[in-house]
Amino acid sequence: MKLSSRISRIKPSPTLAITMKASALRAEGRDVIGFGAGEPDFDTPPHVKMAAIKAIEEGFTKYTPVGGIDELKDAIICKLQKDNRLNYTRSEVVVSCGAKHTLYNLAQVLFEEGDEVIIPAPYWVSYPDIVVLAGAQPVVVETKEADGFKMQPGQLEGAINRHTKAIILNSPSNPTGAAYTRQELEALSEVIAPRGIFVISDDIYEKIVYDAIPFCNIASISEEMKKMTVVVNGVSKAYAMTGWRIGYAAGLSEIVSAVTMIQSQNTSNPSSISQKAAVEALMGDQDVVTEMVREFRNRRNYIVEKLNAIPGITCMLPSGAFYVFPNISLLLGRSYRGKTIANSSDLAEYLLDEVGVAVVPGSDFGCDHHIRLSYATSMKHIEEGLQRIRDAVMKLD
Ligand code: PMP
Repeated sequence: MKLSSRISRIKPSPTLAITMKASALRAEGRDVIGFGAGEPDFDTPPHVKMAAIKAIEEGFTKYTPVGGIDELKDAIICKLQKDNRLNYTRSEVVVSCGAKHTLYNLAQVLFEEGDEVIIPAPYWVSYPDIVVLAGAQPVVVETKEADGFKMQPGQLEGAINRHTKAIILNSPSNPTGAAYTRQELEALSEVIAPRGIFVISDDIYEKIVYDAIPFCNIASISEEMKKMTVVVNGVSKAYAMTGWRIGYAAGLSEIVSAVTMIQSQNTSNPSSISQKAAVEALMGDQDVVTEMVREFRNRRNYIVEKLNAIPGITCMLPSGAFYVFPNISLLLGRSYRGKTIANSSDLAEYLLDEVGVAVVPGSDFGCDHHIRLSYATSMKHIEEGLQRIRDAVMKLD
């Protein structure tokens, strides 16, 4: 059968693939500890669930306006004002079926053949494919670990040319946990603003930050930057609502109405029930977020300390999100039972086969000297998993 050439240019999401492989091994009876998941291991807060139950009981179970109900748009507007000091109107906000859907729709309305889109690496696995599906060319800019995995203004400047349409920023980052400070974003803005390129700011991990550095969005740097930035966010990570599929974008009304139009021809509205739940998540008690972040912080500190204690592994302390991205370059070239660990995929395969630990190879994020571990799993699993990783590394010749 001949499928479209478009489909041959992309690959399935590798992080979802690892999670599936770990589940399949578990189903066969193997004892597998998964560090692959990109979702909080906490339950959706009870008051959010109640809002959804109420929506069902009240019959709020039909189509809604394509871009989301006004009540949710208002809750998003209120959140952006309160948390980010950004002012938007309803015509500048659109709700989609998860931030991934938002990003996909945005790419479809902004990019086309001949456009280049700058993606700093390590990047979230889906960005290049979303750009390719829109017919555009991803331009990967490799950040340095020594720079905290943050793109430097000079690097950005060097990557921009007349074809550059946009840059995708993700802070805190999946997979590195790196978060840009206001000052760093100001420096990037000085490169971006005079060149008139769009910024897609993926803020999905905004609420999961650990240190004194407050979260900052590049749109808040200046009125000019606000016009050029599309803010993308959602409820998946902050409120443990990955299954509810609510994400949103805020930006110029021309872009937002184009996203709404494309959505009218693909999914229509996001689930009516999930929209009501998202209103409650954004407007209701925020203590649940604080609690979750406190627990993530403890796990982060533990996992970073333990990883750094394994000979051959070094790990930067992430500022946000729930991932660590240890450097494994000293393990490359070593072997086990005659098989050489040549790259991050070999190491991930070795850890899964030898000690039943699932991690994601850094190559999936454009950085082959690293692996990604999600600590959105219980402390018990983290302790056991790290011991197993240590044992496996010690066995290498
Ligand atoms: N952006 C980043 C950086 C992510 O890690 C994820 C989820 N893994 C998403 C967007 C998508 O989130 P969702 O579609 O669940 O809102």
